[in-house]
Amino acid sequence: MLTLHNDATGQPEPFEPLTPERVTMYNCGPTVYQHVHIGNLRSFVFADTLRRALEHNGYEVDQVMNITDVGHLTDDTNDTGNDKVEVQAKKEHKTAEEIAQYYTDAFFSDLEQIGIDRSRIRFPRATEHITQQIELIRQLEEKGVTYTIDDGVYFDTTTAEQYPKLGTIQAEGLQAGARVEENTQKKHSADFALWKFSNADEQRQQEWESPWGKGFPGWHLECSAMAMEYLGVTIDIHTGGIDLAFPHHANEIAQSETATGRPFARYWLHSEHLSLKGEKMAKSKGTSITLDDLHTEDIHPLAFRYWLLTAHYRTPVSFTIDTVRGSQRALERLKAQLEKLPAGGTVPDSYARRITTSLNNDLDTPAVIALIAEILKDDGLSEQDQRAAAEHALTLLGIDIHRFIGKAVLTPDQLPAEVAALLREREVARNEKNFARADELRDEISAAGFEVHDTDTGPELSPLDRQ
Ligand code: AMP
Ligand code: ZN
Repeated sequence: MLTLHNDATGQPEPFEPLTPERVTMYNCGPTVYQHVHIGNLRSFVFADTLRRALEHNGYEVDQVMNITDVGHLTDDTNDTGNDKVEVQAKKEHKTAEEIAQYYTDAFFSDLEQIGIDRSRIRFPRATEHITQQIELIRQLEEKGVTYTIDDGVYFDTTTAEQYPKLGTIQAEGLQAGARVEENTQKKHSADFALWKFSNADEQRQQEWESPWGKGFPGWHLECSAMAMEYLGVTIDIHTGGIDLAFPHHANEIAQSETATGRPFARYWLHSEHLSLKGEKMAKSKGTSITLDDLHTEDIHPLAFRYWLLTAHYRTPVSFTIDTVRGSQRALERLKAQLEKLPAGGTVPDSYARRITTSLNNDLDTPAVIALIAEILKDDGLSEQDQRAAAEHALTLLGIDIHRFIGKAVLTPDQLPAEVAALLREREVARNEKNFARADELRDEISAAGFEVHDTDTGPELSPLDRQ
């Protein structure tokens, strides 16, 4: 039985879809005005790992992830900023469409690199679903829960059965350093825009006619409209990064449930943040690190995925290049170890069960990773079965170890004789605590083209050039 922590109730709950054997899942996707950063990628890797766990439990998964190409404002939540895609278009002297297309393609390429098969996900774009969004506003208008002020059509949050159903309103005002520019015409500060009017003094690139006037849809609206369009009025699982719980997801719930009178999403799951030097990584703050940046540092995308999964998705993680490098080394060692073992084994039942139990415990990926180490140390298993069991666990984590190319890990017999001799001499120096000499020898080994890594089981070498 798969147990998932449901943020709607604050409890771990046994997972059961509405329709037996079939799961509908909606993931909040990227706003395509810049490259996604590795924090964004954490939320997508989480969604992919969840999909793998669902499939492992025998479910067929219908997965939709939106592409936000209009309506996400620079102030994120207060409906007073500028459209992120339009701002970037001005900066790059391109059209909004060109910006959105460019960063959508880059996003797709990142997904492939990090082990996410995008051919199995549908990616609707907000700009291609304006009709559905207008229709949703119309339904809300009929219910009498909207009002129009100078800059747009708003949802009156006090009309919702319960608001907010996720997070707390206070969270918004309490955001450290947040300068909230209040729209004084709003009836309540939590009310949010369904439709924003184009400014009379500024020509927008992306705008549409609507019964209320020319403009563009609010950011929260697209997710409600597209989730319901593709997956139905009530969906099984909705995910996003934790910053989206309030107000984005609270607003999605309020407008969807008011419009349909039915529950919107049954399980709400949020992945925690990735931070850099104590701050949440954010495109807008210019603190973004991308997969390309990792590539420059010789970090393979799958090593980054592996590093992410060494933490539980509900635990905040702090990025440092050294810890990710450590994961890359671990994966390199794992690959070298696995490739020495013969293929053709089967996964022993006891391990198959324990891997499933860990994954089903709200995606306890650190426990799955610990099991891989245990499997490879278990002398009671045949070498074939060790390999089969470890590869099975890695596949569930979305790590195709054979696609991972790190640096080869060489054993002393694979080294040129003179390098092996330098290495032996270095070990002697280290044992004698003559670290100055040991460092000199490390430099000599480097000059010969090899990098030394000291591990618990002794030194390992890899060629200095990437293979
Ligand atoms: P955005 O492109 O800003 O719309 O965000 C896309 C996804 O990334 C959302 O699910 C966000 O919650 C998530 N996200 C944004 N910043 C971070 C971060 N620093 N760490 C983890 N997830 C994040
Ligand atoms: Zn969303």
